[in-house]
Amino acid sequence: MGKDLKTLPLLPLRDIIVFPYSVVPLFVGRDSSIQALESAMKTDKHLFVSVQKRAKTHNPSENDLYKIGIIIKIIQLLRLPDGNVKVIVEGIERAEIYQYVETQPFLIVECATISEEVLATKDELLELIDNARKVFENYAKLNKRISKETLERLQKIDDPTRLADIIASKFSLKIKDRQIILEIGHPDERLKKLIEFMSSEIENLQVEKKIRSKVKRQTEHTRQEYYLNEKKQKSSSSSGDESTNEIEELQENIDEKDMSEEAKKRLLKELKRLKMMNPMSSEATVVRNYIDWVLALPWKECTEIEIDITRANEILEADHYGLKKPKERILEYLSVHKLVEKLRGPVLCLVGPPGVGKTSLARSIARSTGRNFIRLSLGGVRDEAEIRGHRRTYVGALPGKIIQSLRKAESNNPVFLLDEIDKMSMDFRGDPSSALLEVLDPEQNFAFNDHFLELDYDLSEIMFITTANASSKIPHPLLDRMEIIELPGYMEEEKLQIARDYLVPKQIKENGISKLEVVFSDLSVRKIITRFTKEAGVRNLERNISSICRKIAKDFVQNGPGNTYRITTKKVLEYLGPYKYKEDEIRETDEVGVTNGLAWTIFGGVLLTSEVTLMPGVGKLIITGKLGDVMQESAQAAMSYVRSRAMNLGLAPDFYQKVDLHVHFPEGAAPKDGPSAGITMVTSIVSALTRIPVKRDLAMTGEITLRGLVLPIGGLKEKILAAFRAGAKTIVIPHENEKDLYEVPKDILKTLSIIPVKHMDEVLKTALVHEDPEMFMAKLSEPILPPDIRYVEHVEK
Ligand code: ADP
Repeated sequence: MGKDLKTLPLLPLRDIIVFPYSVVPLFVGRDSSIQALESAMKTDKHLFVSVQKRAKTHNPSENDLYKIGIIIKIIQLLRLPDGNVKVIVEGIERAEIYQYVETQPFLIVECATISEEVLATKDELLELIDNARKVFENYAKLNKRISKETLERLQKIDDPTRLADIIASKFSLKIKDRQIILEIGHPDERLKKLIEFMSSEIENLQVEKKIRSKVKRQTEHTRQEYYLNEKKQKSSSSSGDESTNEIEELQENIDEKDMSEEAKKRLLKELKRLKMMNPMSSEATVVRNYIDWVLALPWKECTEIEIDITRANEILEADHYGLKKPKERILEYLSVHKLVEKLRGPVLCLVGPPGVGKTSLARSIARSTGRNFIRLSLGGVRDEAEIRGHRRTYVGALPGKIIQSLRKAESNNPVFLLDEIDKMSMDFRGDPSSALLEVLDPEQNFAFNDHFLELDYDLSEIMFITTANASSKIPHPLLDRMEIIELPGYMEEEKLQIARDYLVPKQIKENGISKLEVVFSDLSVRKIITRFTKEAGVRNLERNISSICRKIAKDFVQNGPGNTYRITTKKVLEYLGPYKYKEDEIRETDEVGVTNGLAWTIFGGVLLTSEVTLMPGVGKLIITGKLGDVMQESAQAAMSYVRSRAMNLGLAPDFYQKVDLHVHFPEGAAPKDGPSAGITMVTSIVSALTRIPVKRDLAMTGEITLRGLVLPIGGLKEKILAAFRAGAKTIVIPHENEKDLYEVPKDILKTLSIIPVKHMDEVLKTALVHEDPEMFMAKLSEPILPPDIRYVEHVEK
């Protein structure tokens, strides 16, 4: 340490921290402390003060005290009649205990002052000072104890050390946090920490203020209601009608409402309490609010349920194009319910990307079974209380979302759609999924107990349907109780059908232009699909169609009748502006080192060109493009294959030591299922090394093993469609994927040459532009003996 060491008596403090520049009164009672003070009075009145880690410790020793404290000066010392001493002290500077010199009869320490060095630049510091002042002003607005003088004083202080210490002494903080501030040696860092503490305190104070004003509003509201009631009563009693009393009205409503015994009893009890209360009190509002909630719930109200599978089928068909499998599963599900009558089985969970018709299917189910429909989004729900409600002791408590939604449902047996069940999260406030489990579990949900209601509510008549974007994100215990129905998304052809038969007629009607002659050409819809949207569902497609319909409506209103509206590609551009997305297109020439790969994304398939270029070097493999990281392993495997085939390809065995290879994937659509671009990469590398170009109208997909076997991939249908759209004529696919070809529309398959392959050699044979492919193959399959690397023992003769 070697710095300015001072030997000073130590005064331990239980629960107060003195900052430099502040003057504070202290009351001292402990004998040893009084002796320390007296000893200081005899010299230069300086002392070292440090805070105890625990306030209760009576005789603190070295380990009970923080090492960093403050040197203070006694300004005044006053002996009180009860033997205690009151001292007024001023904080001087920070110091750290170097060692304890004496422990009896009081503590004496050797301490070193801490230098206050600023780390920030001058500009940063000015900004920090300004910022700290502003935040403190905001804090002062919320905390009435900060005087105007203090604020004015702060305006004049430009020294960061003084500013920080004065703010710290005025700002109310827990003792631990104060010590944290005290221990920060650099004034700028100290200011930063203070700003952080103040900001969070401001947030707390704001919440508190909001709650207070809410309670106040409530009370005022009650008061007003009370006066109005009084007035009403007076006027009605003067007209001789005495029955319009609020309490009586509530009594009537309770008597008339059909609900569970428990609920009725409870309401009558609450009503009795209400009668005794001052109607103006906030308590009365709480009770009245509770009674209102219970009365508003559909306890016994229900709609008549009828499951007619033929009709259900008709409705599902009428509302949705395609979705064969989901529709079938839904009908099976409904049939089972018809047979067993009670809803006991697993809960349906519709899984798929946004806009694929999950909500719309659930609505159709409601319509076809005669149930009402309600929807509750669980996205972002992270608190158990959001599901189950707050206890009534909370200010402004409400029932949970389940009960709130039921109030809107107006019947106790609706279809209840729990949307985005995979987007819930949990934190310290509890796990919402466990509350939801209770909601969905037929063994428990006949008596669902909301914290606010404190009454059992029977949820077992409800048909719950859930939705999720991905089943992998659904909490496991919930997943166990669900029957997953996947809606994977639509291909371009399907979107076209949906637009033509559903979305266009729907939007024409909704925008009030049914009477006009509006026709969308197929090509125009295709353009909207490929050039203005990139989605698995049809939500943006619908939005764009709606936007065109609105523009037509405006045109009609402005210019009157007479126009016909034929929406062509040109009109689409006029109405929607320039294209948003580029179409995949194959290259114009066969090139060396460039291959068309195919990838699968949630928006469907995409064409992904891989480029390889060579340069003199030392065998480095550089991979760039958005897929850089994902491609590392694939690229290594590709390289190993090429090296193992070097001789067959006519390359020197050590070719890789003389060149650097740069692999790049220019197009940015990041595939979801990994790249499956192994064979694409090998083709580009081989082409670059042998200078043989790759066919421009050929696309490929497949993963590769070290020995060159081609492995199957996912999303074949989407990939083939992407290749077709881009204009490819030949597509190389893994042999094992041949079985998936049945999914691809026949008329598209007819125009393509699909080549299933088992080995990389076949890929190279098909993809490269050889003069003599047979010869190339023959060379590739020539057996090359591995170099002899066996260990031979040297025997001396
Ligand atoms: P999700 O709930 O899956 O996000 P929605 O059910 O809200 O999607 O669907 C978005 C829009 O697309 C709705 O207007 C819906 O009617 C329409 N839609 C989706 N799929 C189909 C389909 N197969 N046939 C007809 N319309 C569909």
